Amino acid sequence: MFVLDGGSFQYETAMMVFGKVDGETHQRVFTPIYAFETEEGWVLYDTGWPPEAVPMLVELGMDPKIGEENSAVEQLKKIGLAPSAVTKIILSHLHVDHAGGLQFFPDAQVYVQKDELAYALYPNSFQALAYFRETFTAPDIKWEVMDGDGVILPGLTTILANGHTPGLQGLVVELPKSGFILLCADACYLRENYELDLPPGNVWNPVLAQYALKRYKALQALLGARFFPGHEYDFFTKEIDITQPFE
Ligand SMILES: [Zn+2]
Repeated sequence: MFVLDGGSFQYETAMMVFGKVDGETHQRVFTPIYAFETEEGWVLYDTGWPPEAVPMLVELGMDPKIGEENSAVEQLKKIGLAPSAVTKIILSHLHVDHAGGLQFFPDAQVYVQKDELAYALYPNSFQALAYFRETFTAPDIKWEVMDGDGVILPGLTTILANGHTPGLQGLVVELPKSGFILLCADACYLRENYELDLPPGNVWNPVLAQYALKRYKALQALLGARFFPGHEYDFFTKEIDITQPFE
């Protein structure tokens, strides 16, 4: 498993931690893209930002550090892979920082929850800004529409952890040497969500979002899994070493 660098941006802490009003109002957040080598080709979990979104982030004052080199295609090139090596893409959800790179992989099967796909087309106004229709409405996308948990391949199991959005799914990864890793995506932006039992502030349904955190905790206890938060900058830049693959 490689953790690829999809760039970073400034985001409001209150959008990440429900009810958080003390401390820093904003913090830099990291955009991970995960790549897995499997017996059925390479699999991605999320695809990062589309380059087209960067001017909007500048305009919103989010100070994006998202260059061409942070696109899914350029990040894969750095580990010696062409887009055609990717056979499957699992999407945690369809927010633009996760679905933005879909356009580069027209041949891959794309796994998404049906409730996410339906909602993304007609989101509530308060979440509409996070969905870019053009990133997920290309006619040639090879959707594999899911309804609940799923075993994508041995060692890659999706867990419905909705609440942040209607169809958010986390990914339980089992690696030969590292064992189980739980990739939380935006059900747990920061380790703080997990530690304080607080769902994201940017949330479609806070009750379900809290249950999702608890489901992650149960899984972590059962599997002895390592826990990767969705966007925490310090985690991805200091806590783990993303210059090396996890084996
Ligand atoms: Zn996100």
